[in-house]
Amino acid sequence: MISAPSGAGKTTLCRRILKKIPDIKLSVSYTTRQPRKGETNHVDYTFVSKTQFMSMINKGEFAEWATVHGNLYGTSLKRLEKLNREGYDIILDIDTHGAIQLKKTCTNAVYIFILPPSLKILEERLINRKTDSQDVIARRIENAKAEIAHYNDYDYIVVNNSLHKAYRELESIIISSRLRTSRVDPKWIENIYNVK
Ligand code: 5GP
Repeated sequence: MISAPSGAGKTTLCRRILKKIPDIKLSVSYTTRQPRKGETNHVDYTFVSKTQFMSMINKGEFAEWATVHGNLYGTSLKRLEKLNREGYDIILDIDTHGAIQLKKTCTNAVYIFILPPSLKILEERLINRKTDSQDVIARRIENAKAEIAHYNDYDYIVVNNSLHKAYRELESIIISSRLRTSRVDPKWIENIYNVK
């Protein structure tokens, strides 16, 4: 589970993880936000109307959902179950409210928070990205502060002041979480080492 204020570099880092680490997939969220330039439906998000989103909430189709920067975002239960069945580790790129909701039911997940080196640098990155208007950027900075206040709900903090270093840190977290005792199949231990 990865959260970060927008502009912290999370999307770039997630793309690199998906490309380099085997057997890991991103859960594509549903959103009522308008697609940005270059975004593809069902790849970056599944873009839906507010009415469609509300109907999905009523039918209990989300593992979690939240309002972020004035738009609705949600993780599809069906998509999670499918990836899980197929044996993938799943990256959820969700905000702090969503992560806190999921923590109640999803106790074996790893919660990672990516931080920008400072709010000033975050603002510069958002301006350089040229995808959001000035007032949207101001709202994102305010939201970033509120999100960072939840840092303690996460298992790991990665500060993205160098993409290379932040990637290496994320990679280490994923590799070590795959080595957790809880992920070992007892039958495998039994067969290989003849112990119960
Ligand atoms: P953006 O609009 O910049 O792609 O994403 C804005 C924020 O929404 C990001 O912090 C991202 O993590 C969050 N987000 C994306 N998908 C979901 C989701 O399914 N659930 C929740 N709770 N947050 C999401």
